[in-house]
Amino acid sequence: MTDGSRLNRRGLILGAGAGLAASVLSPQALAQAAGRKIGYAIVGLGSYATRQIMPQFVNSERSRLTALVSGSPEKARTLAAQYGIPERSIYSYQTFDRIADNPDVDVVYVILPNSMHAEYSIRAAKAGKHVMCEKPMAPTVRECEQMIAACRQANRKLMIGYRSRFQAHNVEAIRMARGGEMGPTRVILAEHGFNIGDPTQWRLKRSLAGGGALMDIGIYSLNATRYLTGEEPIEVTAIEKTDRSDIRFREVDDTILFALKFPSGAVANCVSSYTSNHNRYRVVQQNGWFELEPATAYTGQQMRVAPRGQPAQPREIALGKNQFAGQLDHMAECILTNREPIVSGEEGLRDVRVMEAIYRSVRESRAVKLT
Ligand code: NAD
Repeated sequence: MTDGSRLNRRGLILGAGAGLAASVLSPQALAQAAGRKIGYAIVGLGSYATRQIMPQFVNSERSRLTALVSGSPEKARTLAAQYGIPERSIYSYQTFDRIADNPDVDVVYVILPNSMHAEYSIRAAKAGKHVMCEKPMAPTVRECEQMIAACRQANRKLMIGYRSRFQAHNVEAIRMARGGEMGPTRVILAEHGFNIGDPTQWRLKRSLAGGGALMDIGIYSLNATRYLTGEEPIEVTAIEKTDRSDIRFREVDDTILFALKFPSGAVANCVSSYTSNHNRYRVVQQNGWFELEPATAYTGQQMRVAPRGQPAQPREIALGKNQFAGQLDHMAECILTNREPIVSGEEGLRDVRVMEAIYRSVRESRAVKLT
């Protein structure tokens, strides 16, 4: 088997798992894809970049780490030495635009606080680079639209870091949910939250985070309901419980409960929280239910399946490539074969649009229609 055919087969598996039509690659595209690794520059060397993403390039087959962008020259130099990145491929936020002249960089991966996503994604597109951007895509619909426009204008790809779409249990859950494993999906229960610490961190500052738990962790509940159904919600109703006397929540939301209606008649009940720990979803179908817990953690996903009238049983799912390497390689394969990522800028925008409606529902104490 050639490298190219392995790439093709893996692409088909990913595409089918995400419920998308798989495309067959041209021999030319396969030949091109066979030999090359796509170079990534990471912008923002914080916790997620350094602990989760950078160590995963060794597990990827189509991606390599080729440049770093940081406000801290010392941190950048130390990490560059560790990852074998030359001095000339280290940038500051001020010199970032010179990345246009670096042929080793194909993709700029933005892993900065949320309010900085749009600026660096747009600058990357203007520098002629493809863009991978962390979730949430940006705090506002307007910024998301500007990011999409900038990438379209530069003819560059834009992908959002929705890693769960490359995680084996979630891929199987999508198949079961959309395929009607136990009949049509009636109700989805999705819960995500954690107890946030340090009150001085950017996640608790509106100007940097754009919002609170919903933007950061509740988005996993929302995104799961959308990828499990394969549908866009038509109505949202939400309530908020935030203790404004808690120093952590002077500026952003703590707990929001939101309910979504989907066109098929499925409904979802979701939790987003910065004061309680949750990481699971349950899909209730006509003739039984299945759940993942944890559902969207970095590791350790477990599935339980309960056909109607039977006790819930664990179901083993083969792991395959991990979600981080899968995400990096998906973008690389999309670039090499000129396909759209399954988690494109439009996908990021749809979540942000629903989150704006959730906040509006809270503010106005009413159901908000999404058309
Ligand atoms: P972090 O605080 O650990 O890192 C943020 C980085 O941005 C730091 O290197 C910091 O120096 C830099 N930075 C530049 N300007 C800054 C400013 N004005 N204020 C604060 N930091 C500034 O955060 P993180 O956990 O790595 O999150 C970064 C992004 O990644 C966020 O958008 C977050 O939502 C996303 N994230 C995604 C996942 C996931 O599983 N997909 C997990 C964690 C974080």
